Amino acid sequence: MDILLSIIYLVATVTFIVGLKLLGHPETAKKGNSTAALGMGLAILGAIFLSKENVPNIIYILIALALLIGGVIGWLIAIKVEMTKMPELVSLFNGFGGASAALIGLVEFGNITTSSEATIVATIISGVVIGAITFSGSLVAWGKLNGTLKSVVKLPQYNIINNLFIIGIIAFSAYLVIAGIGNPVIAYALLALGLVYGVLFVLPIGGADMPVVISLLNSLTGIAAAITGVLYDNKVMLVGGILVGSAGIILTVAMCKAMNRTLGSVIFGNFGGAVVAEGVNKTLGTITNTTPSDSAIMMNYATNVIIVPGYGLAVAQAQHVIHELEELLTKKGVNVKYAIHPVAGRMPGHMNVLLAESNVDYSLLVEMDDINPQFNNADVVLVVGANDVVNPAAHNDPASPIFGMPILDVENAKHIIVNKRSMNAGYAGIENELFYNSKTTMLFGDAKAALTELVSELKGM
Ligand code: NDP
Repeated sequence: MDILLSIIYLVATVTFIVGLKLLGHPETAKKGNSTAALGMGLAILGAIFLSKENVPNIIYILIALALLIGGVIGWLIAIKVEMTKMPELVSLFNGFGGASAALIGLVEFGNITTSSEATIVATIISGVVIGAITFSGSLVAWGKLNGTLKSVVKLPQYNIINNLFIIGIIAFSAYLVIAGIGNPVIAYALLALGLVYGVLFVLPIGGADMPVVISLLNSLTGIAAAITGVLYDNKVMLVGGILVGSAGIILTVAMCKAMNRTLGSVIFGNFGGAVVAEGVNKTLGTITNTTPSDSAIMMNYATNVIIVPGYGLAVAQAQHVIHELEELLTKKGVNVKYAIHPVAGRMPGHMNVLLAESNVDYSLLVEMDDINPQFNNADVVLVVGANDVVNPAAHNDPASPIFGMPILDVENAKHIIVNKRSMNAGYAGIENELFYNSKTTMLFGDAKAALTELVSELKGM
């Protein structure tokens, strides 16, 4: 039995690694997802039916019930969720992963005695604390992504308070490990401290810094799962957790690079930029409106067009019509590319996934560092539902919450057409002087409707 279980865990581990590899490209991502899910299914069945302990039948019934209820809820949510709500769902799932680790830690806390090995005590305590931080932090992130928690709440000296708080938790945990204290009241106190820190950690993060926090929380979920794997000597859980944790850290570092932050400043605070003053409305000049017909003429006679997709493209579900526009222009001999900012949209890779859905050729998607030098040669840049990722305040305004974040340098193009519905701000909640630039014209309207008109104008030319 033991050997069979080890083989099943090994197969599952391989499917996780192969799945991750396949997830690295939009064309193979679906296959990667099902491969890893199959491995996970196998590992769950193996853990239930092949583990050594004599398990009473009632436990099997409870596990089956839990799997059924959890499976049905997860399946219903997954088939119903809109693409634009996906980042919120990922945040919630992160939180549930953390909550599971915290609950397992709570259960195991009662088994701690003065003779328990220090490594085991440390593992249990880490599970409770990291799980609790991940749970409450992810819930706050979820609230921020769906707009429920709009304002950036910052206590005075929040950096110092947050850092003292986490140092306090670490010191308290170290004391418990040394003393081998397994009192349930202390377990709940640790849980509460972790929950409060999770809120304190994520609540002040504003402006455009959420992507870094989200990938960090994702990584913490993996670490929490790995800790549980250590606790139960379950290798597949350990490997799965390590894969999620390390992939999350790699993503966090990539996001930090994209946002021009250091990992240290993420973990120890001092980021999130300045607080956005409510009602800031600098006089930035006047805007120039345009129409689908004028925009079509401009694009029809262009040699190089760069499309900048943003969150609004996902909201409008305009990925298919933008692909139609790109194909039409290409047929007319226009050279078209998409400029992809690493934090455009609301989740890492959001624009890649969205455009892959409409079968846009992957080679047309150009990453920020490669596309930025090409804006000089662009006759027209069409910005669709993007705002923060093209906001020059990131370069020019040290007081801005996005100051220092690399942006797509669309200002360097000969002409910029911006499609959005109104003059409303983007995620960071700030004005965008690009819209007032003398080279910019505003094509107001829902992206799907505006692009559909643009396509029909172009077809008539
Ligand atoms: P923004 O959120 O800055 O701007 C999106 C713009 O789209 C809005 O100004 C909105 O203006 C417009 N819009 C909304 N709906 C429509 C529609 N139906 N048709 C046309 N336009 C529409 O998006 P960006 O992609 O530029 O930037 C992403 C932001 O999200 C960054 O600040 C990033 O840090 C943050 N973020 C990113 C995450 C990630 O992992 N990628 C995670 C969390 C946050 P209007 O209402 O006037 O139409």
